[in-house]
Amino acid sequence: MQNAPLIDPFARAITYLRLSVTDRCDFRCTYCMSEAMQFLPRADLLTLEELDRLSSAFIALGVRKLRITGGEPLVRKGIMTLFQSLSRHLASGALEDLTLTTNGSQLARYADDLAACGVRRINVSLDTLDADKFAAITRWGKLGPVLDGIAAAQAAGMRVKINTVALKGVNEDELFTLTDWCAKAGHDLTFIEVMPMGEDMGDALRLGQYWPLTDLRARLAARYGMTELPLRTGGPARYVRLDATGQQIGFITPLTHNFCESCNRVRATCTGQLYMCLGQNDMADLRAPLRASSDDAALTAAIRAAIARKPKGHDFDYTRAPALAGAGAVKGQMPRHMSHTGG
Ligand code: SAM
Ligand code: SF4
Repeated sequence: MQNAPLIDPFARAITYLRLSVTDRCDFRCTYCMSEAMQFLPRADLLTLEELDRLSSAFIALGVRKLRITGGEPLVRKGIMTLFQSLSRHLASGALEDLTLTTNGSQLARYADDLAACGVRRINVSLDTLDADKFAAITRWGKLGPVLDGIAAAQAAGMRVKINTVALKGVNEDELFTLTDWCAKAGHDLTFIEVMPMGEDMGDALRLGQYWPLTDLRARLAARYGMTELPLRTGGPARYVRLDATGQQIGFITPLTHNFCESCNRVRATCTGQLYMCLGQNDMADLRAPLRASSDDAALTAAIRAAIARKPKGHDFDYTRAPALAGAGAVKGQMPRHMSHTGG
């Protein structure tokens, strides 16, 4: 049946697509890209029309949540036309949630347009509130415009979730400052454990910055009091409520295996490669069937064939390594950059 929902071999319904619309970025975050990052030739990228067709094919197959990401999605030229066209799926009720993950640099400019397209929630990555540290982490970024962008998103009526990568010795001392800032502004906050992505990233540096969320979480619990929330989103996030502030805090530990059984998501790159699992190299090329015909039959068949190969779980073996301080402890390291698969 053409429109039967996407169910993988482990009986998981695939209802969430994360779509990278560009591998380019106006920042060079140290844990994400090298400063001399080589980007893909523009001709390899799906056009905005192709990105729409790809998303719409997934929506026709039961995807209810679509997250636009990158690279930095808001530096893709003409990106608002994609949001505008995708908003028809919100209007029809086929799509529940259209959202994006952004570094916030262009948000002041686009917040109103995004809200007008039906974007109700937005994830903004922010690792520090200190302007010098922000410049050091992002290499090319400035804190001020990002804070302005967050304020603009909020003023436009969007709910903001801050994503903070936990970096030992970098933002460790800002744990409570960031938490209090989010509580005051009414933003949700999620911490992400740093992942070994991309072969040229300097593992020694990243392993030195590895700050296990178990430790971060214990520090928050001691200061604020903490209640576990049953909320599950089908991804690697776990949620708690801080007793003192009432705010919801998420913890993303992508290197643990404990979420794979409820995994509801796949990731598509800006060149139309579909990754069925963040921690596995297997992927399906959707650009060829997309370009082979203006009819979606071949594309739909390729999506179904890919979902039939979705693996049970991923191969990361990093948090289990006994001596994280020692470089070389990373097994199952992924050669891809987060900016390629969109995180
Ligand atoms: N440019 C956008 C942004 O920064 O939000 C979207 C793409 S970015 C690749 C998505 C998320 O991945 C960001 O929250 C970023 O902090 C996170 N990220 C990038 N590299 C990471 C790594 N090595 N480990 C953990 N998170 C990482
Ligand atoms: Fe760009 Fe986001 Fe990667 Fe930072 S984390 S370099 S903002 S893609």
